Amino acid sequence: MPFRGVDYMLVDSLFSEQELLVRQTAREFVDGEVVPVVKDCFREGRFPAHLIPKMGELGFYGANLEGYGCAGMSNVEYGLLMQELERGDSGLRSFCSVQGALCMYPIYTYGSDEQKDKWLPRMARGEAIGCFGLTEPGFGSNPAGMGTRAEKQGGEWVLNGEKTWITSGSAADVAIVWARAEEGIRGFLVEKGTPGFTASDIHGKLSMRASITSSLSLVNCRLPESAMLPGAKGLKGPLSCLTQARYGIGWGVVGAAMECYETAREYSITRKQFENRPIASHQLVQQKLAEMITEITKAQLLAMHAGRLKDTGKLDPAHVSMLKRNNCAMALDIARAARDLLGANGISEDYPVFRHMCNLETVKTYEGTDHIHALVIGERVTGIAAYK
Ligand SMILES: Cc1cc2nc3c(=O)[nH]c(=O)nc-3n(C[C@H](O)[C@H](O)[C@H](O)COP(=O)(O)OP(=O)(O)OC[C@H]3O[C@@H](n4cnc5c(N)ncnc54)[C@H](O)[C@@H]3O)c2cc1C
Repeated sequence: MPFRGVDYMLVDSLFSEQELLVRQTAREFVDGEVVPVVKDCFREGRFPAHLIPKMGELGFYGANLEGYGCAGMSNVEYGLLMQELERGDSGLRSFCSVQGALCMYPIYTYGSDEQKDKWLPRMARGEAIGCFGLTEPGFGSNPAGMGTRAEKQGGEWVLNGEKTWITSGSAADVAIVWARAEEGIRGFLVEKGTPGFTASDIHGKLSMRASITSSLSLVNCRLPESAMLPGAKGLKGPLSCLTQARYGIGWGVVGAAMECYETAREYSITRKQFENRPIASHQLVQQKLAEMITEITKAQLLAMHAGRLKDTGKLDPAHVSMLKRNNCAMALDIARAARDLLGANGISEDYPVFRHMCNLETVKTYEGTDHIHALVIGERVTGIAAYK
């Protein structure tokens, strides 16, 4: 069944025809290509790699960047794209977020002309895959403490360190690795096959199973001078990439929530208990659905407003923290409520709810946990940083 959308408050009336067209294209792709395979992929712990070229053809990678074969979408169009992809699966949206916001964006914003020409057109087509290596075994929420080192030796950089929980790590043709040099934190383009650089997959995940997650190891990994991103100096380099990706997450999770809500709503109308009445006829069930659709509507409006601010250059990182934090918490709550309304079926892979619920546990944690974004908002409203 094609997805009909969830729009209680006529939010669609606030989108342009072009924005709705982008959403429709992504919606048809998800219905036709993702929904039929994602259950098996999640069970088997496999990323649907066969979809990579098709998403390139459709312009999904770096979609809100201009030139280099990118689609040049507005940020609202890009947000609607992320929403539809995550309705399919958070792993798929993560792949596109990492490719576009965490890899193409830093090359586009901080890279040399040579780096841009070499990577961006191929990445836009999905012929080259990227990953973003910031998190380390000892430094997650506090990347400022990172232990990975970049040392200048003659005309080369020598990298040593370890990154972990890296999306698309072992699939990537190029890793954006953040390392501490004498002058501060710098970003490096580390190509697959570089001696001293290896990626190994993390197994045993109960979340994001249709996504590749890896550890990266750098042992005396020698890179030419030209491998460094010349324009990224200090922690604000990686943090600015995370702001881009968090913006996409703020939209994406609304898609997962919409899918869970719609599944629960339909189920509650058809499932009968007590005198052959639909469970939707019970007041407690209706209250749950009312709360779910209210929270989804608020999240849709927040995402759309953030998109309009971003399109006019007014969205700042503290705004994005509110978007990411609120919408992730909302989506996880909706998934848990939907699982409850489906009773025993709520834990079955035959419904998308439990898969989304497991995935959303990751989405709440990565790209800044709920706590860290609360501290960003707290700092904005008090002027006092409370991270330490
Ligand atoms: C599936 C998956 C994919 C990922 N993909 C990537 C990727 O592509 N690239 C990448 O670099 N990273 C990636 N990550 C890593 C992710 O960004 C980190 O897991 C996240 O930043 C949290 O770090 P941590 O796991 O070390 O938790 P920790 O930082 O150890 O935090 C543990 C808990 O302590 C809390 N906490 C920590 N400090 C504070 C504080 N000051 N105040 C209050 N509470 C605090 C946190 O909120 C959390 O609840 C991924 C993670 C997962 C699970």
